[in-house]
Amino acid sequence: MTQFLHNFACFDCQISFKRPATKDSSSGSAHLAESELVHTCPNCRHKMAFMGRNFSTPSKSDNSGWIAAQALWEAGFRFSGSGSHSDPPLPRTKQEVGEFIKLNPKHYQKIAPNEKWSDYI
Ligand SMILES: [Zn+2]
Repeated sequence: MTQFLHNFACFDCQISFKRPATKDSSSGSAHLAESELVHTCPNCRHKMAFMGRNFSTPSKSDNSGWIAAQALWEAGFRFSGSGSHSDPPLPRTKQEVGEFIKLNPKHYQKIAPNEKWSDYI
């Protein structure tokens, strides 16, 4: 059986894993705002943020990439969907991310409500 996996991240530990998001993980939407299943960080036990199917994990040394990923997630962006839309790609640096969020309130990948990582438990 092929599993339909999504990316889950811990911004404190700067790690991410692929995990199922739904009980029946053999199928499912690629354009999901939040996971049905809860996964906790194996390192710090924080509830892991649901990033979506297409999140590519920044490297350990890429602090800017992690800041961008957290800011996008908190603003309701998910790395999801088919990619066949005309909206600009999600930024990967902290220099770009603030402006990007301001300029793209109706972005195709902004599908979740705003969230605060520190309150996400
Ligand atoms: Zn953690």
